[in-house]
Amino acid sequence: MLHLFSPNYRCPSISEIPIPWLSKQGVKAIILDLDNTLMPWDKPVPAEANAQWVRKVKAAGISVVLLSNNGGDRLKKVSESLGVPAVGWGAKPFSLGFRRAMTFLEVKGGGEVLVIGDQLLTDVLGAKKLKLRVMWVESLAINEFAFTRLTRKVERLLVRQLVKKGLMPGGRLNENCNCANED
Ligand SMILES: [Mg+2]
Repeated sequence: MLHLFSPNYRCPSISEIPIPWLSKQGVKAIILDLDNTLMPWDKPVPAEANAQWVRKVKAAGISVVLLSNNGGDRLKKVSESLGVPAVGWGAKPFSLGFRRAMTFLEVKGGGEVLVIGDQLLTDVLGAKKLKLRVMWVESLAINEFAFTRLTRKVERLLVRQLVKKGLMPGGRLNENCNCANED
């Protein structure tokens, strides 16, 4: 059960994920979380470094789709400005949103996909249920929704267990994404 919350990789933020590293891992497509991964939940646009990173990923031939548990105009605008498709109201960790996101990706199979998100209970669990590789990044938010604050408490308990069982990629978010649990 615990392994369903165990990310394959960790990195402090998306802009620190080296694009050559993605290619080396055979990543052809990314399912990217919006809130607190690409941009803080209370901001209308991503930081330039993150927007740039998405553009560079695309330029490297890796496709990107946004998958958010929110939706509406904000998601639409970001999707348009970055030129990437988006799936809103994704209901992560349920599989439907992930499956919808996959339809936008030109991949041979789930092995070429990397999910990136900031929450173990939605992004990581949802990805692992579908046997997709997943990277856990540090949340961009300082203040979060009340519900998210609650789930963060559960998340902290989970992290403790994962670390104890050796199921959390090494070290505290290591600088060069040289993740310990690579396989
Ligand atoms: Mg998020």
